[in-house]
Amino acid sequence: MENLIDGKAVAARVRVDVATRVAALKARTGVQAGLATVMVGEDPASAVYVGNKHTACHAAGMASFDVHLPGDITQGELHARIDEICADARIHGMIVQMPLPHHLDEAAALDRIVYAKDADGLTPAAQGMLATLRPGPRPATPNGVIQLLKAYDVEMRGAHAVIVGRSDIVGKPQAHLLLEQDCTVTICHSRTRDLAAITRQADILVAAVGRPRMLTAEHVRPGAVVIDVGINRLPEGLAGDVDFASVQPIARLITPVPGGVGPMTIAMLLHNTIEAAEAAASD
Ligand code: NAP
Repeated sequence: MENLIDGKAVAARVRVDVATRVAALKARTGVQAGLATVMVGEDPASAVYVGNKHTACHAAGMASFDVHLPGDITQGELHARIDEICADARIHGMIVQMPLPHHLDEAAALDRIVYAKDADGLTPAAQGMLATLRPGPRPATPNGVIQLLKAYDVEMRGAHAVIVGRSDIVGKPQAHLLLEQDCTVTICHSRTRDLAAITRQADILVAAVGRPRMLTAEHVRPGAVVIDVGINRLPEGLAGDVDFASVQPIARLITPVPGGVGPMTIAMLLHNTIEAAEAAASD
């Protein structure tokens, strides 16, 4: 289909760029960029995500460190492991795979990651740098959305971008990233009145709701660019937050699920890690 945004292809280009930079850094300084993942417990979906991150690291020539901790670990023990990783000079980026088991405090674990090694760009320090539009690691998924829009030459300056969702992981950083690109930004959430009246004003509509196929053709202005961040697991397979069947015919451009935003998240994680490794090598 002509109006599909091919996230796999854009992500592949980002990963080639990362691999080139990893090789150049190694040749210039002897430093091999490295990413560590911390997973707690046995969540099967998390295990798949972590495995994909390691595969992507190896393909880019990066070292990867797989820290898998027992599900009954205490908060203090988790923090001690995060501190060890942050102090390990072989590791330039790290992530804590979410969700953590219920007895652990996810925000406190994120707070423990030193800003310079924050490969997900989700620590309060990284979010603060983004909110004040200063340089720093950008949150991987919403930054992936920006890279998709750039790759398809979508005019962002002055465009009205409407985001449905205000989470710390997607919605809020997405708003700051789109502001950084000079969009006029509106954020909607579960308390928004007359959602469709607002989303129909969007030149760029970003769905990050976590409700399968919630945004239908009635929410979309014909000719809008529609970015679907949603990943919902249904018995019949994956579905986005956008009702692709009704929206695809009227959108100018649209991301499929899977194959749209999803592949960009890991690519941007690798991007943040090579940026951190280059910065560490130049210190
Ligand atoms: P989240 O923390 O559950 O946030 C969902 C947001 O949607 C909240 O702000 C919520 O509003 C809003 N919302 C819920 N129902 C709504 C409604 N009926 N009308 C308007 N807004 C509504 O989810 P998230 O972590 O941001 O993730 C969003 C989606 O993106 C999920 O499907 C997730 O799986 C996916 N995701 C994908 C990737 C990727 O790699 N592609 C990465 C992260 C997340 P309130 O704040 O008022 O509750």
